Amino acid sequence: MDTLITNVTAVTMAPGTEVLFGVNIGVTDGKIEFISKKVPQELPQTIIDGTGMVAMPGMTDAHVHMGCLFAKGEFPVDYATVLTVAKCKDALMAGFTTFRDAGSVSEGLKLAFDEGVLPGPRIYPCGAYISQTCGHGDSEYAHTYRDIQYRHPSSTVLADGVPEIIRAVREQFYRGASHIKLMATEILNRHEDIRLLFGTDMMITGPDYQVEQSEDIRYYEKRFGTMRALRALTGTANEVFALTTYQNPYPKGKIGVLEAGSYADLLLVDGDPTKSVLVLADTDHLRLIMKGGTVYKNTLC
Ligand SMILES: [Zn+2]
Repeated sequence: MDTLITNVTAVTMAPGTEVLFGVNIGVTDGKIEFISKKVPQELPQTIIDGTGMVAMPGMTDAHVHMGCLFAKGEFPVDYATVLTVAKCKDALMAGFTTFRDAGSVSEGLKLAFDEGVLPGPRIYPCGAYISQTCGHGDSEYAHTYRDIQYRHPSSTVLADGVPEIIRAVREQFYRGASHIKLMATEILNRHEDIRLLFGTDMMITGPDYQVEQSEDIRYYEKRFGTMRALRALTGTANEVFALTTYQNPYPKGKIGVLEAGSYADLLLVDGDPTKSVLVLADTDHLRLIMKGGTVYKNTLC
């Protein structure tokens, strides 16, 4: 065991599990080994006293476009990259341990964060979104030169008709996409009604980017109520990520729930998110942030 977190109230968000009081969480190799009252015989080097804290899964922002700006040419690519990396770190430090990209260039960010080169969330990459010609994803001006096949090869692929869509989808999976974004409004609306995910639609638009997540947490609380908002921020992501099957870039554990075998992506919160998720909108209440067993923030000691 690498880390033991002691004496927390655990809001696991696993289906059918209630809140667990006074439990210890053992973390081994980036995953949760156990959540129970058990005290292991051999204690690890790192022991975190979680007395008075609520442990919950790290949050997921299930709709971002972190690499979108690369495609637009408004800034030098390296500047855009630095802004994006800074924003990703901010999001991790706001308790978001996972991003689900909804169309942009994020495969490289994902690799760098997974390798621990810089701090950032896990990323479920999407690759380019697929749009019909002159559809929602066809963002070139009408009177510029229009290269019909690839308008923005990095973030949009235009595809009309079944054979072109099949090819475009295959290309995104080849690039490492875990899911596909179709810019086809009818299909998307139907899907998004089924399960509520938390998503900000965040993209980098310039140096004065804002932390949109905290605002949206407040909105979700007001619009959907505390527990639905909390599930959208955590457990529902796990159900959706399970649908990625063999394209799942994180197949070794669950995300969005705390249980034995899930990734050790968790928060220790100074406050009760089951009473109000507003506590999650203020990063001061996030006393400990862990992703894959690595502690990124700890203000407990
Ligand atoms: Zn979007």
